[in-house]
Amino acid sequence: MSTFAEIYRKIEQYSTIILHRHTSPDPDALGSQAGLARSLKLKFPEKRILCAGENDEGDLIWINKMDKVTAADYRGALVITTDTANTARIANDLYRHGNLLIKIDHHPDVEPYADMSYVDDQAPAASQIIADFLIEENLPLTPAVAYPLYAGIIGDTGRFMYPETTAHTFNIVAKLAATGINITEIARNISDVTFVQAKLQAEVLDYMKVDPCGAAYAVLSKDALAKLGVDSNQASCTVATPGRIKDIIAWNVFVEKPDGTYRVHYRSKGPVINELAAKHDGGGHALASGANAQDLAEVKQIFAELVQVTKEYQKKHE
Ligand code: AMP
Repeated sequence: MSTFAEIYRKIEQYSTIILHRHTSPDPDALGSQAGLARSLKLKFPEKRILCAGENDEGDLIWINKMDKVTAADYRGALVITTDTANTARIANDLYRHGNLLIKIDHHPDVEPYADMSYVDDQAPAASQIIADFLIEENLPLTPAVAYPLYAGIIGDTGRFMYPETTAHTFNIVAKLAATGINITEIARNISDVTFVQAKLQAEVLDYMKVDPCGAAYAVLSKDALAKLGVDSNQASCTVATPGRIKDIIAWNVFVEKPDGTYRVHYRSKGPVINELAAKHDGGGHALASGANAQDLAEVKQIFAELVQVTKEYQKKHE
């Protein structure tokens, strides 16, 4: 693993730096990418600093908008990925054309794909690592830099609820808040849903199946999404919904994609679920992971595995 100082020295050496994050971005993916990009632009106005993705920011366009990039931009460029554990999840394949690749991430390092990396899987958000980096290397921390980083941290900590949140997280967000950003606006942007999304959440609660062990699942079919006029990307607002119920300790939300396969969300309050996700073309954190299912048979199998792990966890904690 490289140090912040080593990464900073590489940044100094390159005149073009292109930042990538993961596909289907969440606030931490966009926030870590935007926070780093904006700070580097302020520090090095003479460099070309670009944010690349698949222009799939969706409802999160308020955090950051991607730049247009072509293969030519990557000639001799430094590429930095944030919040992205494996190459299959790097948004936009053009990253391969860079000269040097640096990974900055908080997922378990399942695929050490970069030339240099800084990975801390105990950090609650990649945005927290970026904030640490900016502070340690004395890089600009203006409101425009702090805003996406704060969004990323409250997004990935569930507003300071998940167990990786520490006193250090609060030290960092205090520094971000001290820049004068509107933290109420950011929290509202993250939490507020549209009427249709609220109806989708109601649908999850209505049709959710709960096993007596405390595992639950809900399937959002293409038809259900079409009836409400939402696309599958907007369904991620339902992922935390089952967890608001006391007795549910692990759950899956399956969202049917236009091609009939399913995007799988795993969440947990205790049982470790990223090893389960890894069996189904996925991965992630111990308590928050994602995967893919080809059909309803695989959906059924995934939930059966979740029930098994939840039962084992309950037995251990009786
Ligand atoms: P999600 O359920 O999509 O919000 O993802 C939860 C966590 O799992 C995030 O940290 C994602 O980066 C990670 N994740 C989601 N889908 C995948 C996947 N197919 N492969 C690896 N990691 C994933």
